[in-house]
Amino acid sequence: MDLSIVIPIKNEEENLPKLFAELSDALVPTGMSFEVMVVDDGSNDSSWDVLQELTASYPFLRAVRFQYNCGKAAALSQGFSMVTGEYVVTMDGDLQDNPFEVPRMVERLKSGYDLVSGWKTRRLDPWHKTWPSKLFNLVVSIVAGLRLHDFNCGLKAYRRVVVSHISLYGDFHRFIPVMAKWRGFRVTEMSVEHRARMHGVSKYGVSRLVSGFLDLVTLVFLHKFAVKPLHFFGTIGLLFALIGASVLGWFGIEWVITQELHLRPLMLVAGVLLMMGIQLGSLGLLGEMLNAKIRHEVLPVTGNIRPKGV
Ligand code: UDP
Ligand code: MG
Repeated sequence: MDLSIVIPIKNEEENLPKLFAELSDALVPTGMSFEVMVVDDGSNDSSWDVLQELTASYPFLRAVRFQYNCGKAAALSQGFSMVTGEYVVTMDGDLQDNPFEVPRMVERLKSGYDLVSGWKTRRLDPWHKTWPSKLFNLVVSIVAGLRLHDFNCGLKAYRRVVVSHISLYGDFHRFIPVMAKWRGFRVTEMSVEHRARMHGVSKYGVSRLVSGFLDLVTLVFLHKFAVKPLHFFGTIGLLFALIGASVLGWFGIEWVITQELHLRPLMLVAGVLLMMGIQLGSLGLLGEMLNAKIRHEVLPVTGNIRPKGV
């Protein structure tokens, strides 16, 4: 299989027939072998029935259905685990992404990239979606060290190895380009056409901005410290404990010299700092214990030179 397209949908009944007509028009002439995997993310309209009807006309259609709404990242992850194409393209199922962009993106992959992220250069969404999105893209670009203008774009194309290396949950699909870049894959972006939503409603609001930033904190934290939690908790803990112990030590010396000891606010602060330091250190050690027990990572070995006959 050359190409697999993964489409997460939730309540897109009116958009599906036109989507498949367009996909067929865009992909059949390319001569590539392809499949379209729709993941119905707990729709409660007639999307699933519409999909079943469409199978009669489109032999490349495959679909799975979640019992309840698990989120776009889970839907994508499910799709990734089931497709077999050498290239994998994701797109939204609301007709806002144009299927005719897919062959262009695959060409771009072939020119030497592992991931091509879409960039809706002329975005047709209301201002209360586009402005927060601009801020989000800027902050993520700075933090991730990867300048992309549109992390949220549903249209993205991958070489198979990329999606098989990345596990997704929550809303982490937006950060696939970041994770891919950090794992040494070649990432680029490409301007794609965006269309206004004609049917159905958007499933996301401004709250996406807040959850997006929280997810970014998680991502950076996991990237830096998932393998060595003590380095995070231990550094802060050590700092607290050192300050606390030094101040208490100073009070101790004063007591030895003057033979007098008065309870002072600073003494309480030092005591609390020392306790917090010990607590944070223990938390880090607990993290390390869990890591040692449950960590079984497949390391990304991509080359292997050995003597002939071995
Ligand atoms: N979607 C999904 N599960 C969800 C929310 C959305 O599968 O919980 C799908 C939705 O049907 C669409 C795509 O994800 O195909 C993008 O969603 P939407 O168009 O609402 O986002 P927007 O374009 O407004 O950012
Ligand atoms: Mg949309």
